[in-house]
Amino acid sequence: MHMGVKFPIDVVALAMELIRFRSEDLDSHEIQGYLAGLLGQLGFTCTFLPFTNAKGRAVPNLVACRGAGSPHFAFAGHTDVVSVGDHSAQQRWVIPPFEPTVREGYLNGRGAEDMKGGLAAAISATALFVAARPVTPGTTSFLLTGDEEGDGDAGMPLVVDWLKKRGTRPDGCIIPEPASRGVLGATIKIGSRGCVDFFISLSDQPGHTAYPAETVNPVHQLLPVLQEIAAASFDDEGDLFEPTNVNVVTVDVGNRQYNSVPERVEAVVNVRYSDAHSEESLQRWVEELLGATGQPFTIRRAGFNRPYVTEPNQFTGMLQKVTSEVLGLIPDLITQGGASDARVLVEICPVVELGPVHATSHQVNERALIEDLGRLVQLYHRILERFFQV
Ligand SMILES: [Zn+2]
Repeated sequence: MHMGVKFPIDVVALAMELIRFRSEDLDSHEIQGYLAGLLGQLGFTCTFLPFTNAKGRAVPNLVACRGAGSPHFAFAGHTDVVSVGDHSAQQRWVIPPFEPTVREGYLNGRGAEDMKGGLAAAISATALFVAARPVTPGTTSFLLTGDEEGDGDAGMPLVVDWLKKRGTRPDGCIIPEPASRGVLGATIKIGSRGCVDFFISLSDQPGHTAYPAETVNPVHQLLPVLQEIAAASFDDEGDLFEPTNVNVVTVDVGNRQYNSVPERVEAVVNVRYSDAHSEESLQRWVEELLGATGQPFTIRRAGFNRPYVTEPNQFTGMLQKVTSEVLGLIPDLITQGGASDARVLVEICPVVELGPVHATSHQVNERALIEDLGRLVQLYHRILERFFQV
């Protein structure tokens, strides 16, 4: 089914090859085998790093390196895609998600935008770069994980640990995620706010609704707290981050005995926070509000990521300059949007997301503009030349 790719590598042909691999739900073994073969032909030495996640499942990861020493440029990314959805969602795909098709200027298929299109552009640009210079200075690498869309615990975090143990610290890293807002190259994503969930519950003795003096209704106690949380406005944006915002994402009582005061109410509060806060300071804030009710409560938190950023530096300046030369617009450096694997890569190198336009990621009928994929190849190719100053 998978055909050999001809050189020079056509970005659309390669993206189509990648989309044909059904790499949902940690099933990235085959696509990474294919990529290792392809990168091997380009002179990369490939190391498979299968790690086992908390659920005991094998997560494929792949590190490919070409050359040695500094400077070191890395492309990082994921080979998995989000699920195409249940049966009813699948019926809404006009073109079957794993049968990539070019139509009306777009490449259609799951992962066209997030992120097999960008990955194909990075490989295609690298092929052009190394074809012109069989001996290149420094190191070029691809840091790939098969688990970014899932739990991610045995993906890039463990790849980064592995790199740290070897003392490998790239001088600059691009993740070809769909990070362009509106038009290609309009934005480069340099970080993201923190993300934490608070699981709270308030309880009391259940009782009869006809005897209000005997009971305290925890729902009545919690609602004003949630209202206060929902109305909170944080005036804490800095130069690099949007202000903190809060969402009550679920409230659960589950009481089906309508003549009884419920025993317990639970809610989850999701917070996206700037670097003016921490998980700990936000928890204290929620605890104070809950404590004021005088009711017994529990609170537990699950943090996904703390705020992270690659501060504007020489690397990001170079990327802005090359983008303006190739695409004709100076990209804004932004931290809007959700976290990516940059949250762990930032521990070892300057890292940004620079890639296709974000429009249909994670949706049915995902697609990417073909013209943009070609322009991305030019952009990445020029970045490689500028990075290595050749
Ligand atoms: Zn992605």
